[in-house]
Amino acid sequence: MSLADLEAKLGLTTPIRHQLFIDGRFTDAISGETLATLNPHDNSVIAHVAVAGREDVDAAVAAAERAFPAWSRMAAAERGRILLKLADLIEEHAEDLARLETLDTGHPLRDSRRLDVPRTAACFRYFGGMADKFQGETIPVEPGFLNYTLREPVGIVGQIVPWNFPLMFTSWKMAPALAAGNCIVMKPAEITPLTSLKIAELMAQAGLPDGVFNMLPGLGSVAGQYIAEHPGIAKIAFTGSTATGRRIVQASSGNLKKVQLELGGKGPNIVFEDAPLQAAVNGSAWGIFHNQGQACIAGSRLLLHEKIADAFLDQFLPLARSIRLGNPLDETTEMGPLTSMQHRERVLTYADTATQEGGEILAGGKAPAGVLAGGCYVEPTVVRAKSFRDRVAQEEVFGPFVTVLTFATDEEALQIANGTDYGLGSGLWTQNLSRAHRVARDLHAGMVWVNSYKRVNPGSPFGGVGKSGYGREMGFDAMHEYTQVKSVWVNVDAEIPPHFQR
Ligand code: NAP
Ligand code: MG
Repeated sequence: MSLADLEAKLGLTTPIRHQLFIDGRFTDAISGETLATLNPHDNSVIAHVAVAGREDVDAAVAAAERAFPAWSRMAAAERGRILLKLADLIEEHAEDLARLETLDTGHPLRDSRRLDVPRTAACFRYFGGMADKFQGETIPVEPGFLNYTLREPVGIVGQIVPWNFPLMFTSWKMAPALAAGNCIVMKPAEITPLTSLKIAELMAQAGLPDGVFNMLPGLGSVAGQYIAEHPGIAKIAFTGSTATGRRIVQASSGNLKKVQLELGGKGPNIVFEDAPLQAAVNGSAWGIFHNQGQACIAGSRLLLHEKIADAFLDQFLPLARSIRLGNPLDETTEMGPLTSMQHRERVLTYADTATQEGGEILAGGKAPAGVLAGGCYVEPTVVRAKSFRDRVAQEEVFGPFVTVLTFATDEEALQIANGTDYGLGSGLWTQNLSRAHRVARDLHAGMVWVNSYKRVNPGSPFGGVGKSGYGREMGFDAMHEYTQVKSVWVNVDAEIPPHFQR
């Protein structure tokens, strides 16, 4: 199907963008190379997208360098106004963005509409408002001196976005960086570039000066690696796997880039015996099955108190089995396909691993048969592991795959919860106030949800500890990440200093 036919079939009001966006213009890659991006529902080709090479990265960095002086000195309120305008444009184009995200990633349309797109607009709006409210300090130093701090942009920042929430993560990375006055060279994931390119188009409409923001779809091993190495780039922000995060740290060492990493997780979701059971069942299903489990904060380890484990599973398993899988463009679909066939295969191997380790598959563990068999689908999967040291209880599966473990005491729950190298999202369900705060304090994690799971808000810091990475997105913390502090000392009325007086 031609691109125009596909746009008409989908009811899009604006064209699908498939070129690099450099210096305010859409352009082919210098090499002329392209790569197909697929619809994971049936693996059909959506579009052939330009693939950035090293020379395209150089062109983007040069454009960003030209744009930086004016952009970084522009009134902060003016930068904010452009981000606020972009938020409005995202809302105006909400349906196009939702459909494009669903087509490229497999997110159910109702989630794209209800979550991905509104959260993206909210993120730009929050940081648009933040731009002129983030300020330095005056420090009460010795008399006679004025000491104050300036919060200066870092410079040109490289940003590498994964494929699980391409639209939303584009905004999480772009918005604070731009609000703080940085220029950006961004690479979306090769399998999900379309909504990020749409943001580039809307950004230009919102009045962003040329070169401030550059979007380079391409391969991680080529363009991504080169962005991480590039001597003209002062900071790199990355979301993705721990293995790639490590590679980025190594590549960034040449010019000692500032590095921010948001990596994997194996989120413990603890249900105590006094939990509000119905809410816990529902929230835990959301915590793992939303976005087909392709979330770094997914509640992928379900820790059940042994007294309520059976009662919990009696409700949880039928719920998991009844989740409606289907074409994500169908408005009744609750779970779509995974985002690639390669990833589906990887997730399915963990079902075999579970069995080999002596675990028990309580639900799913396979691809659906019938009309969905040609797509990237995996059934909602629940496995009971023998030990929290098993691979299925330690490694990030990143799919609709939850590992059940049981515990007898709070101490044991914490030992299991903290017994991985990760520390990103975590949850606990209890009606005991002291226990809630005590366990929240003792969890090795960047985020804790009490009687809820997987909440995010642009004002609330997001990030991990341990092998889940470092640095924080969202909130004031994100503005700190995208600025560096300069301390200025002014002699207001101090005497001539005593040293070396003649
Ligand atoms: P990945 O390799 O970490 O990919 C994430 C991003 O990094 C993509 O844009 C990728 O480009 C890029 N990249 C790859 N190699 C690079 C390099 N050497 N230098 C710079 N950038 C590079 O993740 P994946 O292979 O797609 O997924 C594997 C696993 O990672 C998943 O199963 C999951 O466990 C985890 N993951 C976590 C998150 C998260 O939100 N924390 C997101 C995605 C994946 P390409 O698209 O060209 O590969
Ligand atoms: Mg795709």
